[in-house]
Amino acid sequence: MSAHDNQTGFATKAIHFGYDAQQEGGALNPPLHLSSTYTFASAEEGGQLFSGEKSGHFYSRISNPTLDILEQRIASLEGAEAGLSAASGMGAITSVFWTLLEAGDEVLADKTLYGCTYAFLQHGLSKFGIQITFVDMTDITAVKAAISKRTKVIYYETPANPNMRIMDIRAISQLAKSANIISIVDNTYSTPLITQPIALGADIVIHSATKYLGGHGDLVAGLLVGSADLIHRIRMEGLKDMTGACMSPFTAMLIMRGLKTLELRMQRHSESALTVSEFLLAHDVVETVYYPGLVSHPQHTLASKQMSLYGGMIAFELHGGINTGKAFMDALGLIQRAVSLGDAESLIQHPASMTHSAYTPEQRHKHGISDSLIRLSVGLESVEDIINDLAQALAQIKNKQVA
Ligand SMILES: *Cc1c(COP(=O)(O)O)cnc(C)c1O
Repeated sequence: MSAHDNQTGFATKAIHFGYDAQQEGGALNPPLHLSSTYTFASAEEGGQLFSGEKSGHFYSRISNPTLDILEQRIASLEGAEAGLSAASGMGAITSVFWTLLEAGDEVLADKTLYGCTYAFLQHGLSKFGIQITFVDMTDITAVKAAISKRTKVIYYETPANPNMRIMDIRAISQLAKSANIISIVDNTYSTPLITQPIALGADIVIHSATKYLGGHGDLVAGLLVGSADLIHRIRMEGLKDMTGACMSPFTAMLIMRGLKTLELRMQRHSESALTVSEFLLAHDVVETVYYPGLVSHPQHTLASKQMSLYGGMIAFELHGGINTGKAFMDALGLIQRAVSLGDAESLIQHPASMTHSAYTPEQRHKHGISDSLIRLSVGLESVEDIINDLAQALAQIKNKQVA
């Protein structure tokens, strides 16, 4: 097996791909290259590196040997030609959009997006003469009808944060391809273990590596993959000149450590989340549970087709609305009240007042984010402890409602 063997299994690639210890004095883990700049053998060579005539590193905002390994590794896990690292998920997202768009273009986006992505499109990009159109992408006919001559990019998350709607990657990719539109999937919720959008026809896949890829709540980072051409453009335009949002080599090291256990962690997250969602569904204080692994999820069949597991994220609503929801969250002991997701610790938050507060109440209603929705990131604790905590908090709520 070589450092660039793409025939190995997912976990093997997550642990080994892109690194050969024998090239680094036998060091089991890749070295950290803490160098902002790189020396040229001659003035001539410096010019060749800058013009692209010769490949190599010249400044760490553009590339770095430690980041190289991570970028190759995420590309291999996603089944893509090339990868790129960024300082945050938002750094990755903005670097992509600034590269691909110009005034007069249109972005077609799903109606439910992570709050800051929504804010960037709705309040940021739209100031620069770019038309942003939101559409319910669970409805393929609606997507088709919304495509115009100006549509340059189609953008969505699946499952969508926070309401767990599932988009049909294959169908949307086909529509995009036939109209010469670049389609971009935010794969943060699923990770490449569960869904590989490139194989289903997507052009670019984006991650907030802050979440499951890092997996330990100790970093903020972004990653993206796509064709070598597209990634080169995003590196040399969006990342280098427009956002400057490059990743630190320290962060790359932590993500590579996280990736080693990605398969194990996602299996456990998914197994526990199914158990927790079944528990919630059966509880009489709980009104609705949104989890793609439940047969009651409206897109359970599609989810089963394009996801190998159902992931660790759940959304649900309680009878009594948001005030009940807040009292419930305050009654929890083990489960931590915090935004972010994908950590070992179970995390709970209220999208309307927290992650998705960039939407006005009217926009939230229109975009399918109810005020009473609660988002739970099921962690890696013993599942009976997670359930016991939920059970005691729900019991407190129920007692109050009866009293
Ligand atoms: C967190 C998140 C982002 C933003 O990533 P950061 O690393 O926080 O910048 C983008 N998309 C989704 C789906 C997220 O959950």
